[in-house]
Amino acid sequence: MVERNLEYLKNISLNEIKGFGEKRISSFKKYGINSISDLIRFFPKKHIDRSQVSKIKSINSEIKKEITVLGEVKDVSVFTTKTRLRIATLIINDETGSIRAKWFGPQYIETRFKTGDSVALSGIPDVKKTGSIEFKNPTIEKFSDPEELNETGSLIPIYPKIDGLSSSIIRKGIKESLRRIPEFEDFLHKDDIVSYKIVNRTKSYNDIHFPEKLSDYENARNRLAFDEFLYLQAIFKEHKISYNKTQSGIKYKLKKDTLTNFEQKIPFKLTKSQKDVINEIFSDMNEESPMKRLLQGDVGSGKTIVAAAAIYATILSSYQAVLMAPTEVLAEQHYNSLSKILLFDDFKVHLLTSSVKERKEIMNTINSGDPAFIIGTHALIQENIKFNNLGLAIIDEQQRFGVQQRKKLTTDLKTTPDQLVMTATPIPRTTALAIYGDLDLSVIDELPPGRKPVKSFLYEGYKEDNEKIYKLCEEHIKNNSQVFVVCPFIEESETLDIKAAENVYKAYKKELPEYSIEILHGKMTSEEKEAVMRSMHKNETQILISTVVIEVGIDIPNATLMIIESAERFGLNQLHQLRGRVGRGEKESECVFHITEGKDLETITDEGKKRLLAIVDNLDGFKLAEIDLQIRGEGKVTGTSQSGISDLKIADLRYDYEILEKSKEYFENISDQIGKAVSNEAKILFPNFEDVEDTT
Ligand code: ADP
Ligand code: MG
Repeated sequence: MVERNLEYLKNISLNEIKGFGEKRISSFKKYGINSISDLIRFFPKKHIDRSQVSKIKSINSEIKKEITVLGEVKDVSVFTTKTRLRIATLIINDETGSIRAKWFGPQYIETRFKTGDSVALSGIPDVKKTGSIEFKNPTIEKFSDPEELNETGSLIPIYPKIDGLSSSIIRKGIKESLRRIPEFEDFLHKDDIVSYKIVNRTKSYNDIHFPEKLSDYENARNRLAFDEFLYLQAIFKEHKISYNKTQSGIKYKLKKDTLTNFEQKIPFKLTKSQKDVINEIFSDMNEESPMKRLLQGDVGSGKTIVAAAAIYATILSSYQAVLMAPTEVLAEQHYNSLSKILLFDDFKVHLLTSSVKERKEIMNTINSGDPAFIIGTHALIQENIKFNNLGLAIIDEQQRFGVQQRKKLTTDLKTTPDQLVMTATPIPRTTALAIYGDLDLSVIDELPPGRKPVKSFLYEGYKEDNEKIYKLCEEHIKNNSQVFVVCPFIEESETLDIKAAENVYKAYKKELPEYSIEILHGKMTSEEKEAVMRSMHKNETQILISTVVIEVGIDIPNATLMIIESAERFGLNQLHQLRGRVGRGEKESECVFHITEGKDLETITDEGKKRLLAIVDNLDGFKLAEIDLQIRGEGKVTGTSQSGISDLKIADLRYDYEILEKSKEYFENISDQIGKAVSNEAKILFPNFEDVEDTT
């Protein structure tokens, strides 16, 4: 009995697997795979469908969908174009013919493959008039042992890359592990398995790796996702119980005219949606139990002013308030704008980031317990500050923080402050409730009046596109407006990241020498960043070249042009957030999505192309989230999409609504005994589950 559960498997070490020596085991360990259980729960990122495998001879110009070719590498070469674009080419043969595969940009194909390698290559073929066959940016997978292909079923699992290990070693290890466990313990009763139309765990764990057909894989994935949602709920339930036991909150006595008085202090009229949300917050504050509210509103919908109203009410009631933002640049901006609105006698506003020097003064204010407002970054929790009269804690752009960080701000206090967390990530209500478990939800569903839609353009990576962009910059600057240019995040290293931005900076300086151009990136000191942002706010800088550090929160209403370089590399939500940096004032704004130099819509990935076509056509964050779902959904047919939650391996809270609903229904009626089993398993599989948070 016991030998079939994951707790037991967690204790079986990898060296029990045939052929796994120290070297392989240490490679696995680097990726957190220490036991048979970890290995079984190391899920494939996709499967290659052998039924889609085509002999090269059979490929013709009619084929418009993705196919797979199995063959041997015959030649490897690299070529650099005049525009310095790298093109790597492999020639691949099977027994019926030969194809050519090309990769554009620095993908280092030539270092990963050599003549003689057996490979599986998937993509849409391009058959030339001459009859030669070419694949552009196909996916490619190496097999160390061609025999292996005959061993697996029709769907061959492909695993996330582990340095020093081939997919085939991983496959062997998992196969062997599964062979040792003829049956998995299942906490779900047989009848429930039937009535919830899910498969049992033995079948799930086998089919997630080695399904016979796609539907088997899907069913396996759905069952394991169902379980993960149970884990999530079990953990939240325990949190809630321990939270409710210990809580005593503050009961404010806000008067009816608080909102009207607040509105008189600000330079514009609140939208109806903002007022509704502020009223919800005020009535929470007037309750004895502490507020825990999630405020969701699309980028630019005006969440900051809602936060300001809550802070205003807190100060009026003689408590302290704190606001935590994910970046220094954003904290600084809030500090500047909010200190202008929150003007009271005998009241202090402080900025606390890791680089602030007036620490002692700030600590004095906090200790005094006098009404005050502290704005900061992670530094607020890192420095272990203990408030003693905290009435309100606000987290801005909370998707950037973990639950632990959110909690740390408010733990160990005599009375629990009200909490408001704000996010622009659009998630449906039911999903939000599951992710944020114990939070109530408020939504701002309209933009401030007078906003003009941002005109969006797609530019390809040719020389004339660059020229058009420089012209566009000049037009905006001549209209006394400002420009953002964002350079992509390069995964391999932050240094490369900054280098790319510096090159763009040089190019702009050269092309537009008469304007004032600044650069902003993560490695600059706080003072440098501050100085740059200040000159942006004052309209002294006309063009800001930046890495994605400006993605969240930045509010410069006079900026009317956003240029996103290598736009195909960004996620859809990220593109939407970045575009949201413009279109915040009265003037007409524009956003250019610029494809990497040397590439065009046809030479970027299929998903990249779909994202770009979607973003230029849609301005609404919710709509874009839906499209994102479709785009990923298509990719998901043979693969697990990347999870939105750092720790969830299979389930994706943004997309798996139906499974979530099922799992919720089941959990609501769960027996104590099964509930315990679920919670026990959750703790074993996800020791850091408390940190689970949406990371989109
Ligand atoms: P986000 O929801 O993205 O955090 P902000 O709070 O930064 O948005 O607000 C975006 C811009 O809209 C700011 O310049 C802010 O001053 C302005 N704004 C907010 N509410 C209103 C309103 N009701 N009327 C006019 N402008 C507003
Ligand atoms: Mg904001």
